Amino acid sequence: MTNKDCFNSTDKRRADTCAIVGVNWGDEGKGRMVDLVAEDYDVIVRYQGGNNAGHTIKNDCGTFALNLLPSGIFRHEKMNILGNGMVVDIRHLCGEIEKLRAAGVQIDPENLMISERAIIVMPYHVALDGLEETRLSDRPYGSTKRGIAPVYGDKYMKKGIMMGELFEREELLSHLKDVLEFKNLQITGVYGGEPFAFDEMLEYLDTYGDILKPYIGDTGAYLRKAALDGKKILYEAQLGALRDIDFGIYPYTSSSSPLAAYAPIGSGTPDIPVNRVIGIVKAYSSCVGEGPFTCEWHGKQAEELREAGGEYGAATGRPRRVGPIDIVATRYGVNMQGATEIALTKLDVLSYMKEIPICIEYEIDGKITGEFPFPAKLERAKPVMMTMPGWGVDISGIRKYEDLPETARNYVEFVEKQLGCRISFVSVGPGREEIIFR
Ligand code: GDP
Repeated sequence: MTNKDCFNSTDKRRADTCAIVGVNWGDEGKGRMVDLVAEDYDVIVRYQGGNNAGHTIKNDCGTFALNLLPSGIFRHEKMNILGNGMVVDIRHLCGEIEKLRAAGVQIDPENLMISERAIIVMPYHVALDGLEETRLSDRPYGSTKRGIAPVYGDKYMKKGIMMGELFEREELLSHLKDVLEFKNLQITGVYGGEPFAFDEMLEYLDTYGDILKPYIGDTGAYLRKAALDGKKILYEAQLGALRDIDFGIYPYTSSSSPLAAYAPIGSGTPDIPVNRVIGIVKAYSSCVGEGPFTCEWHGKQAEELREAGGEYGAATGRPRRVGPIDIVATRYGVNMQGATEIALTKLDVLSYMKEIPICIEYEIDGKITGEFPFPAKLERAKPVMMTMPGWGVDISGIRKYEDLPETARNYVEFVEKQLGCRISFVSVGPGREEIIFR
């Protein structure tokens, strides 16, 4: 590297970087925002998680649930990166690539790159996930059973296999042997399960690894060069702030960090800061899986909202738990994400309501609070509710903010004030165009 190529810290601060992140429990509509915003960026990076979440995207090519691929994959001129912070189910990734190709999407090493440091999700991780949820029986964590917790556990136990090892045959053979010995002790000894055969695991790595080899590389080096060349980088998160392993509703969290602050680390560029953070907030609450969910509705009220919002998991098809917007949790999410602006999604879904309910504070042990509490305390939180008048008309065709009914604008502006962060996008439908720029 010559002096001229050096990327000094002032340049790095100026790099054009943006993260699109979930503020709530996930499923806020991040995928559709990335699909929209990606137009202005050159590189799109997924930096955490695996195929345990799904981003639903509706565009000219069709409707897709992306589990691993970044949402910029539909535009061939963009580079899409799976960063080192991710865990990659290689069989699933091959399937996802095939599905998109069958729909006419062009995918090749020109527009897809996988970090050599991403950890491979192995079949025994998926098995262990199921075995542990079975052991937990009536106290499940609500795992998606895609092996995500076991593989992140292995990453920190230093028992993971990295994508780049696929190129290092000798090292891979001995590493796999060691790791499998350890994993089989766990599977047979702790759970009484069937051990995994070395030959089968090697064949698995060879079968899917060979397909993916052309895409594997040093994503940090690629991104650093891209930033130096003035390219714009977009980081795409999965899930939301309340699922963060450090700051979420632990243990009902994911095993990774969906925070914007983690994006540079999970991408291979801890030296390049994220300058713009678009926090995605849903106009109401939804949550997949277990854990405290203060605003949860049940029965008919929940069914109506679930139907109106089509709240079924993109990756799993599970009906999502739903309720009104939770200002306490959302404000906390906005802060943890360090959002510089907000996209409020699915406002159209609330059109059927005469009055819009809002959880404005919590009552915990007889005390009113606006602060999001420690997880164990959250179990005892009761929502303090207020309502605002609804609008009662279809708003999905509206494209200008001033054309929204006054009551809808009042709702948006009230939420904005409560969150202390500008709402710069309001979405009123799932399509690429169904959005209002404010
Ligand atoms: P993500 O994981 O955050 O990308 O969210 P999901 O894809 O799981 O969930 C968002 C769902 O809402 C998808 O089915 C989207 O197509 C849909 N969606 C996104 N924005 C809007 C909107 O403004 N209105 C409506 N009705 N649906 C939307």
